[in-house]
Amino acid sequence: KAKDLGRNNFQFFTDDMNAAMMQRLRLESAMRWAIERNEFMLHYQPQVDVITGKIRGTEALIRWRHPEFGMISPAQFIPLAEETGMIVQIGDWILRTACAQAKAWQVAGLPMRVAVNLSARQFHQGDLAETIAEILEQHDLPPSLLEVELTEGILMDDTSQTASVLDKLHGMGVQISIDDFGTGYSSLSYLKRLPIQILKIDQSFVRDIHTDPDDRAIVTAVIALAHSMKLRVVAEGVETPEQLAFLKEYDCDMMQGYLFSRPVSGDDVLSLLENDTRLKNEVAEQMKETQ
Ligand code: C2E
Ligand code: MG
Ligand code: MG
Ligand code: MG
Repeated sequence: KAKDLGRNNFQFFTDDMNAAMMQRLRLESAMRWAIERNEFMLHYQPQVDVITGKIRGTEALIRWRHPEFGMISPAQFIPLAEETGMIVQIGDWILRTACAQAKAWQVAGLPMRVAVNLSARQFHQGDLAETIAEILEQHDLPPSLLEVELTEGILMDDTSQTASVLDKLHGMGVQISIDDFGTGYSSLSYLKRLPIQILKIDQSFVRDIHTDPDDRAIVTAVIALAHSMKLRVVAEGVETPEQLAFLKEYDCDMMQGYLFSRPVSGDDVLSLLENDTRLKNEVAEQMKETQ
């Protein structure tokens, strides 16, 4: 009967809701301990020059390994951290850890830029520019070795606060990029007003680049737009040689994706960089020999 069915459905629904709510609460309380229990770490994904294949920078991506729940994806816990406000504390930890790592690479003789994802709440809380200045100074890190990734969502409420924070960061020499470009609902007008240097093409446009004409159109248009505004372009989520070939053909500057490397530990980035320079030296040696 409809009534029974209704009741059963309702019952089923609430059980489901309860489970989701419980899961959320458990995650939320686990998150409160995660920093001091050392459960977070950062991985770094290389960004490579499309033409030379040389590593030009890295993106820091947070990882959470919980002793009971295992690995929890940032796509799952970052939105929750945003909602609860915990992102402010976690975001601070991310900035400090990424800057310490960039300093370690520099000290090892292989200076490499690190890009840090910022979330909306973190961006609008307090004076982010001052916090970043303090962290850079504490780690004695040249500001040009830090990049911040913003989403269009952050820029949507295009206030004077947004412009003032970005102008300060830019004035210090910190690089500014737009992440997941083209997936937000914002207008393009912020590109005129704000000091942005890099556009990152979202992986949803890159995925079917060699089969979907619409994606090809979007990617080539974004590259053209970026270059005519003197911005650099990074393609995200590059997984196949065909995608890379397309990006090369259309003059994309950099790529990031499993084709070159997954996100790896800071030490592994160092090995990648060492191989990179060794490779370069080898090529130079061979050139000398053949001359
Ligand atoms: P995002 O910033 O756009 O990061 C790119 C995501 O694509 C990362 O997922 C990365 O591991 C993944 N990826 C890279 N190459 C490939 C590829 O070739 N194929 C595929 N399928 N995926 C690839 P991840 O690490 O799971 O992060 C997901 C999102 O969570 C990030 O998207 C970012 O929005 C957020 N996030 C991650 N780390 C942080 C952080 O430290 N702070 C903040 N606020 N957000 C973060
Ligand atoms: Mg990002
Ligand atoms: Mg992205
Ligand atoms: Mg994304």
